[in-house]
Amino acid sequence: MTKFRTLDDLGDIAGKVALVRVDFNLPMADGRVTEDSRIRAAAPTILELSAKGAKVLLLAHFGRPKGARRSDQSLSMVIGAVEKVMGREVMFVPEIAGPVVHQAAGIMRPGDIACLENTRFWPGEEGNDPELARAIAADADLYVNDAFSAAHRAHASTEGLAHLLPAYAGRSMQAELEALERALGQPEKPVAAVVGGAKVSSKLDVLRHLVTKVDHLIIGGGMANTFLAARGVDVGKSLCEHDLAATAEAILDAAEAAGCTVHLPYDVVVSKEFAANPPSLRRCNVHEVAGDEMILDIGAPAVEALGDVLKTCRTLVWNGPLGAFETVPFDEATVALARTAAALTREGSLISVAGGGDTVAALHHAGVAGDFSYISTAGGAFLEWMEGRELPGVKALEQ
Ligand code: ADP
Ligand code: MG
Repeated sequence: MTKFRTLDDLGDIAGKVALVRVDFNLPMADGRVTEDSRIRAAAPTILELSAKGAKVLLLAHFGRPKGARRSDQSLSMVIGAVEKVMGREVMFVPEIAGPVVHQAAGIMRPGDIACLENTRFWPGEEGNDPELARAIAADADLYVNDAFSAAHRAHASTEGLAHLLPAYAGRSMQAELEALERALGQPEKPVAAVVGGAKVSSKLDVLRHLVTKVDHLIIGGGMANTFLAARGVDVGKSLCEHDLAATAEAILDAAEAAGCTVHLPYDVVVSKEFAANPPSLRRCNVHEVAGDEMILDIGAPAVEALGDVLKTCRTLVWNGPLGAFETVPFDEATVALARTAAALTREGSLISVAGGGDTVAALHHAGVAGDFSYISTAGGAFLEWMEGRELPGVKALEQ
């Protein structure tokens, strides 16, 4: 299936200069990196290239400096954290092209690692300026993209460079593409998708694409209310996009035409106020929601039925929590279905792939993140891939 070159396809790269696009857009507080999982994700690629004797030049963006140098967004701030993860010295180069980079590459020994400055200090990065890309490529022999999370942007460091140098997918990019291919590209059938979260409007294209791809579409979260309302259910004060009723109908029709079974909640957890363990909490059928109540989670019987659906499936792709999981007890449906999916994955009967900021947080909260086949932390890129879009950074690697 692989249409792109990986590090397995590298010849002898001893002494060659490898530009490696990574995701170092790290969470920081008081000038310190607070969470280093993105560095750890890039480490296998960096260390493999270094072990093969390449001079490794890391390229990354940080924050949104909008094409100007900003000392508070310099990548020099992450060097300490990168060195800690690599267990190696990492040189910082305050440019991304030109004589300073040329000189740095000249004094580096094979296997050395250097990190270039924040690519977004240069307007040509986000403009995908071929001039800038050529200047960056001038001192390099090959390009490795290990930042799937930035692949939905056609920028100089994510797309332009791939056309100018022999281009390869790094290990983390490769793992992500292989997991996504197994989940929606060429999946083992039957395939189930869980789509939840707050609003239909943010995931319209995801839903439209999935109904053509999967056998079961499980809709939960706030967006289920829009579908229920479109079907004539009174959802009371629930979060609901009433103006999208026709759109929701069209998605349900498309699902039916494609042979995709849509599962909407039939029993729910409701409350008059949005708070932890509210006194007005009650569980009822979707047809019994009062005018002053909000649907905040799916009920236990419906979740059990959804678990039975997963038991008949071979592949699961999940984006979006089933309820307002940050507030107890509205996390129960998400936690219960996540645990069922995790158990089926451990047994070997299900391939489970999940992504999305809140989804990943919810799976950690359920204590099962490690049991899924693959968890994507790519955010926007993961969602665009769920929409069936071609990601420019991935496409550029494929040629
Ligand atoms: P992700 O970040 O995984 O893509 P979203 O951002 O789309 O997920 O959705 C997550 C949000 O949806 C959470 O903040 C959650 O509280 C909210 N949510 C889920 N169900 C409901 C509901 N029934 N009512 C209101 N908000 C909900
Ligand atoms: Mg979110």
